[in-house]
Amino acid sequence: MTPRKLKVGLIGTGFMGRAHVLGYAAAARTFETAAALELDCVADLTADAAAAAARAFGIPRSTGNWRSLVEDPEIAIVDVTAPTGLHRDMVLEAIAAGKHVYCEKPLAPTAAEALEMAEAAKRAGVTTQVGFNYLANPILRVARGMIAAGDLGEIYSYRGIHAEDYMADSAGPITFRHDPVGGGALGDIGSHALATAEFLLGPVAAVMGDCRTVISERPGADGFPQQVEVDDVSRAFLRFESGVTGGIEANWCATGRTMQHDFEVYGSKGALVFSQERLNELHHFTVDAPTGRRGFRKIEAGPDHPPYGRFCVAPGHQLGFNDLKAIEIAGFAAALAGEVPEPFGFRSGHRIQRLVELIQDSASLGQWVEV
Ligand code: NAD
Repeated sequence: MTPRKLKVGLIGTGFMGRAHVLGYAAAARTFETAAALELDCVADLTADAAAAAARAFGIPRSTGNWRSLVEDPEIAIVDVTAPTGLHRDMVLEAIAAGKHVYCEKPLAPTAAEALEMAEAAKRAGVTTQVGFNYLANPILRVARGMIAAGDLGEIYSYRGIHAEDYMADSAGPITFRHDPVGGGALGDIGSHALATAEFLLGPVAAVMGDCRTVISERPGADGFPQQVEVDDVSRAFLRFESGVTGGIEANWCATGRTMQHDFEVYGSKGALVFSQERLNELHHFTVDAPTGRRGFRKIEAGPDHPPYGRFCVAPGHQLGFNDLKAIEIAGFAAALAGEVPEPFGFRSGHRIQRLVELIQDSASLGQWVEV
């Protein structure tokens, strides 16, 4: 099979831009699909910044103007890793130019914009992907499969958290993540916690939120103190459509935490515990073990958990964060080739943004809100 080459234009070369570059490289050499995604051009704020990134990443072309990348007839896929407030315009112009689009999460600052993007993609018939990379972890599929197969019995409760400390320093400056519209811990990392909760247990039916700002002023672009208008620590009680109840926390001031994207699921026959800080492990408790011999058993990721084996033939050698990006990109390529349905497209991205907003609404109203 000679794969159909699809050229990719990448917008943004920061944290996520780099993760995407590494993801394309690994995906191309690790998976076989009928669509070969090839990074061809990169755009950043200035021509110099884009050219430097192109040199560093080995990408043939660069531009200081994202619109020229979007309009380029050579480009089949536009990949947006720019700050969230820019996603809508970049994505809508890419769709209007007939491109398939891969966009980082959150899809847009507001659910209304995310819906506009999802509807535009549907009308244009283009394939989309949103960067909820934690869902690409094969061990999460194991967890979802065990829950669906009844290994935990009747599910009693769910607890999810995404906590990091990248905003814990009160001297840290205002960033795009503090934009009054679309900024805040809930949208930035709570969105990941919500996506994982629904991935494991199905749709959320109602939410009750609490959103707090704990660092009320930060240095602005001019160095002077600026008021923070978004949440630092948010929590939400969740009622799933299945009747299961639970909660999530989003916290970017969790001093000392670097990647606590964790969940715990409790049921009548057992429990599952996962932490992204040890992303190759799933801990399973079963009540079937005799008393005196009970405890959490570690399930270690390995070749029995596809697509782990494509990266390494040996169990215990572990996948990393960038491997999850490669798996996400391979899924997008398979969808572009028509081999699988769109994995986590703009419809799904809009749904998560809607949950984020309903939690914010609920926190303002001080009452439960139906989804
Ligand atoms: P970043 O600041 O590290 O990178 C942003 C990049 O976009 C920079 O290279 C910047 O110069 C560029 N940029 C800014 N304005 C631009 C413009 N007008 N035209 C072209 N390029 C422009 O930010 P980041 O941490 O990479 O975050 C980017 C996006 O990725 C955000 O939406 C964020 O929520 C998301 N993100 C997702 C994950 C994940 O796990 N999926 C992790 C981090 C960030």
